[in-house]
Amino acid sequence: MAENRARRIAKLIAPLRVEPGTKVTLAKDFDPAYKAGFLNKKDGEELLQGGVELLVEYQARLAAQDTWGMLVCLQALDAGGKDGAIRHVLSGINPQGVHVSGFKVPSAEELNHDYLWRYAQRLPGRGEIGIFNRSHYEEVLVVRVHPEILDRQNLPAAAKGKGVWERRYQEINDWEHYLSDNGFKVVKLFLNLSREQQRIRFLKRVDLPDKNWKFSANDAKERAYWDDYQKAFSEMLSNTSTPWAPWYVIPADHKWFARICISGVLAHTLMDIDPQYPKVDAAKLKELAETRVLLEAEAPAGAEPDPFAASLAAEAAKAEAKKHGGSNGDDPGL
Ligand code: AMP
Ligand code: MG
Repeated sequence: MAENRARRIAKLIAPLRVEPGTKVTLAKDFDPAYKAGFLNKKDGEELLQGGVELLVEYQARLAAQDTWGMLVCLQALDAGGKDGAIRHVLSGINPQGVHVSGFKVPSAEELNHDYLWRYAQRLPGRGEIGIFNRSHYEEVLVVRVHPEILDRQNLPAAAKGKGVWERRYQEINDWEHYLSDNGFKVVKLFLNLSREQQRIRFLKRVDLPDKNWKFSANDAKERAYWDDYQKAFSEMLSNTSTPWAPWYVIPADHKWFARICISGVLAHTLMDIDPQYPKVDAAKLKELAETRVLLEAEAPAGAEPDPFAASLAAEAAKAEAKKHGGSNGDDPGL
């Protein structure tokens, strides 16, 4: 059953993975409107619910084991659906185990440091999931499309001259390699939206009063740089999908499908880590048994010494009776 689920997830996400070393041309290689043929929206909703439950379980184990952390980098064009995906995919997860960090135009203090500095400040700890809503990849995306931003980064001449993007790809790959060697899995998701869907979503933000706040006229102006962004995305995918931190291109035109894919990639990564609840040793077991005796002795007169154990025993007896065909009156249909 669990293996079956793992296989289904692996099959779903395999076509989305950018094989390390391949050259990507986004428009040719990935369709923003793709939805796996073996899925319809209704099956998809069930699958998303299953995926969300799986994430809840694995996140609890990740936190308990306290050895691995997971960094999820979300990149997209405006209106790609990052915010909604975070809300849906992470619903139900213990908020103590997850930190979401958004990255906007860098502050003066941030510009006063190396370009990876502000991202390093926000890395997850062991046992935690960190979500980057935009990430260090902005440094080879918006900064590449608008080279005047690079000029504002106070860099020495050699660091912004010829070969700057190749160098940044290498530095980012090295940084992620270092993180993964040290117990932090880096998961990279690019939400691939079509130009027409972006237009429609922008219009929705213009038309609906409670969406107006999300819209800035500048977002629409950025559409003039569409081809430059497509090229920057393609280069980023070609140069920074690595065996230790591969990119997944999430088809983003259908939000329901995008969310299933995202939860699939996260579940797949967590299954790969396979975090376990820590084993309790003999000394700890002895301590627990002694504590039980002490607490049972404190039961008030007439109270069950251990009400929790009693309810567990009752559950077990009920299950046993059901197994042997006996009816307990609770399940008239069985
Ligand atoms: P939003 O996430 O829609 O609120 O917008 C954040 C804005 O910050 C976007 O226009 C990004 O392109 C911009 N941004 C994010 N990171 C950087 C960066 N490193 N340098 C310049 N602009 C950035
Ligand atoms: Mg925006």
